[in-house]
Amino acid sequence: MNVLVVGGAGYIGSHAVRLLIDAGHTVTVYDNLSRGHAAAVPAGMLVQGDLADRAKVVSTLREKKIDAVMHFAAFALVNESVNDPSLYYRNNVIAALELLDAMREADVKKIVFSSTTATYGEPDIVPIPETTPQQPINPYGFTKLVIEQALADYAAAYGFAYAALRYFNAAGARPDATIGEDHDPESHLIPIVLQVALGQREKITVFGDDYPTPDGTCIRDYIHIDDLGEAHLKAMEKLEPGKGLCVNLGTGRGTSVREIIDACREVTGHAIPEVMGQRRAGDPPELVADARLAKELLGWEARYTDVKSIIDTAWRWHQSHPQGYATKK
Ligand code: UDP
Repeated sequence: MNVLVVGGAGYIGSHAVRLLIDAGHTVTVYDNLSRGHAAAVPAGMLVQGDLADRAKVVSTLREKKIDAVMHFAAFALVNESVNDPSLYYRNNVIAALELLDAMREADVKKIVFSSTTATYGEPDIVPIPETTPQQPINPYGFTKLVIEQALADYAAAYGFAYAALRYFNAAGARPDATIGEDHDPESHLIPIVLQVALGQREKITVFGDDYPTPDGTCIRDYIHIDDLGEAHLKAMEKLEPGKGLCVNLGTGRGTSVREIIDACREVTGHAIPEVMGQRRAGDPPELVADARLAKELLGWEARYTDVKSIIDTAWRWHQSHPQGYATKK
């Protein structure tokens, strides 16, 4: 298929691009490089542009004879969304609607959309099944939920075929270490801990150990970035006009902050000093996927079942690219 990967210069998008190419698809990346990296895109595949530029999106869809779109071009930091909701509603909602309407105009109706566990808010039942009420507790979660709803409505009215994939915690890097995670500033747990191991930070601050979990630190479901990407390819194959597929992408296993830090110590062989800090606002104690529906509907399940194997791929990337994509070769 000819696939337009919107946000293909970002962390998750760039990994999906490699998997699409490996599977024989023809890829065009559409990205404004506001947070992504040109160096993360294979040569000749990048169209640099904004989603707000409807004419450019439509002409790209037509010129490249696009069959399906994968949309990764959203902002994804809870804290930032609380402090600057305008940024999130504009980029994650308005720009996404521009994309959907450009697709209508170009008569491209297949889309795989990056949704999130943040649409569930603070669920009572963990592991979290897809039937959990979606009650987000921050602007980020709301913006994603708005687009899930828009997709359902576009499917019913215009025959869109969509998948909304609700990610848990994406982690790791392509095992050959050619691409990986590079955010500025970095706010995610695993890359920060690995930056301590590299000597770029003094210590890791654990955001609270008084949560109702066995060791008191928050539990998350860390899923390898290539497992996440593979699920997108499977979802793309299952798209049906007028229908939507809403599934969790996680491993079904939870790991606490403390367990992640210990696993990083084992993988890197570094002591990794830690200090206890305050809770970070908006962090639910435990988010773990009920991952059964993805297996049932997509025939997909995570291959990286051990966090150490995920951290190992991240560590290879961070060691070979200590300054991320800015690392001098
Ligand atoms: N975390 C932490 N120290 C840090 C960064 C993150 O203790 O410097 C914790 C955070 O509170 C959360 C978990 O690590 O419980 C995962 O955070 P991350 O930002 O990686 O992902 P999120 O779950 O927020 O999407």
